[in-house]
Amino acid sequence: MTNLSDLRGLFPAIASGAAGVYLDSAAMAQLAQPAMAAMAGFDLAGRANVKRGIYPLAARATDAFEAARASVARYLGAADKDEVVFTSGATAAVNLVAHAFGSSLEKGDEIIIGEGEHHANIVPWQMLRARKGIEIIVLPVDGDGHLQLERLPSLITERTRLIAVTHASNVTGAVSDLRVITAMARKRGIRVLVDGAQRVAHGPVDVQSIGCDFYVLSGHKMFAPTGIGALWARKEILDEMPAFLGGGEMIQRVTFKETTYAPAPHRFEAGTPAVTQAIGLGAAADWLMGLDWPAVTAQERTLAQAMLDVLSASNRIKVWEPAGFEGGRVPRLPILSFTVAGAHPHDICELMGAEGVALRGGHHCAQPLMDRMGAEATTRASIALYNNQDDIDAFARALEKTLKVLS
Ligand code: PMP
Repeated sequence: MTNLSDLRGLFPAIASGAAGVYLDSAAMAQLAQPAMAAMAGFDLAGRANVKRGIYPLAARATDAFEAARASVARYLGAADKDEVVFTSGATAAVNLVAHAFGSSLEKGDEIIIGEGEHHANIVPWQMLRARKGIEIIVLPVDGDGHLQLERLPSLITERTRLIAVTHASNVTGAVSDLRVITAMARKRGIRVLVDGAQRVAHGPVDVQSIGCDFYVLSGHKMFAPTGIGALWARKEILDEMPAFLGGGEMIQRVTFKETTYAPAPHRFEAGTPAVTQAIGLGAAADWLMGLDWPAVTAQERTLAQAMLDVLSASNRIKVWEPAGFEGGRVPRLPILSFTVAGAHPHDICELMGAEGVALRGGHHCAQPLMDRMGAEATTRASIALYNNQDDIDAFARALEKTLKVLS
């Protein structure tokens, strides 16, 4: 098991200081050395395309690719590795579901979306609405960005086919109470899609105990490379869904008259997949599964609370979820959004950036949530397993300087 103090050493960009005081992991986490090593091992030791070749190198490539699928399946607590489809990321995974599952929906069918969703879990459904004439019903959040789950029963009708919600907000870090949603949905045969893009950076997930039907993630948020992600879906649902993209690798037999398709998950992986990146994602998942998560979570929370204390000390700062990280209103990931009276988030990010602190400012691809919270933009600091108290101290020093400049 990796010692917490050794974690930074496994992130060359963190250990060397090249990434600075990196507090933007919710946008992209740094690449873990085990993921890098697995990718280099595959690419440099002789690579070959997957699924096709039968010579030893090609068979090894296919084995490595399928082993990566099995690792992602274990990370998600899936019943079967073939419930995992590799995609280019969470966005591509939602679009896949919107096309493939969406093709079974009819005019007037309804889907419910959380108001605090990332645009990746809004726009594909709006495009489906334009194609099929479905209705989008919004499950509201309150002024702090919490889902108003008590309103869900009144929004469900006999036309509801899907509920699409985030596992955790990329703006406030609030974790959704998914079991309440899936319990309600199950009774009525409604599917539930969970956007796990943020949650997967903070420990393994158990899709079976959550009780959802679809779960999407991006590799670059869980210390794996860019350009890779995954869709998990229950086997029986994947088996029923028609293909979305067509091409090589996803077929059984092609004639000009008719084409038959490969079984899932291959039916959903048209063309040469991102083999190297998938192997990197599998290695990241294996490495993450070996960590002492209670200890990592405790450290992340302690740091987030320390950052919250720094922010709360200034009466010019409003934190967009002021409750603490232990015993707050809802469980939270270590993500903090704040605004400084009279200062634009971009100015704060620029000044903090000049001090070597990486933060993100803007609407965080969640404009409906910003509208609800009454903020045009926020500054966001996000903490990952490689951050330490020195980072929080550097953040506090840079903030003090920034507030002086902006006063
Ligand atoms: N959902 C959430 C909650 C996210 O934070 C993000 C990434 N910012 C996405 C979806 C989309 O992920 P990607 O851009 O990697 O497809």
